[in-house]
Amino acid sequence: MEMLRKERDDQHFVKKQYYEDLAAKFGRTVKAFEYRMQNISYVMTLLGRGWVTGLKPAKNVGANKAAEIEAMIADVEGRQSTPVAAFEIEVREAVNKKNSHKPEGSRHPATHSSAITQYQRDPAVKAWVLQQAQGKCESCAQPAPFNGTDGRPFLELHHVRQLTDDGSDTVTNAVALCPNCHRAMHYGENARSLVSPLYNRIPRLVRE
Ligand SMILES: [Zn+2]
Ligand SMILES: [Zn+2]
Repeated sequence: MEMLRKERDDQHFVKKQYYEDLAAKFGRTVKAFEYRMQNISYVMTLLGRGWVTGLKPAKNVGANKAAEIEAMIADVEGRQSTPVAAFEIEVREAVNKKNSHKPEGSRHPATHSSAITQYQRDPAVKAWVLQQAQGKCESCAQPAPFNGTDGRPFLELHHVRQLTDDGSDTVTNAVALCPNCHRAMHYGENARSLVSPLYNRIPRLVRE
């Protein structure tokens, strides 16, 4: 998380130095720590978040380990969100299985409550950005795929520098996206490559 923050703030850092320090402290190999960092990148992709350049997501991390990593990220950032990593990894493992049996599922799924951290967003920011977008996605430029129950084109607000990455809730950091583009921006294989075009296309945006 420190490397990620430094990268976003354009501060110089040496990735290898982190692995060497960790290796010296915990007695595993430098390579092992580099690989674990790539596992962390993978967990970040499951959370719909960005990862450190050069630390390409490595997906062979089990559900339990991913849940631990997710909890650690929440801990480091002092923020609780709904856990997703373990569930998504179990889905991916199951999808890859051949001859899987049709699951029973659950007629009455259990619930549990926990405190999560929510950002207090400004409705005026979303409203203003939606007005600017005029019913068209600001990424693919296509009209919203459907109207909401309010009869207005359905677009979602996306913060280009995510709030979890200390981005601001302002019109210079927010765009109106169609649901497809929004999902791709968070979970797409090429999510990273979708960001620069936004800054190029939308004059009001300011890099944070
Ligand atoms: Zn779109
Ligand atoms: Zn978003």
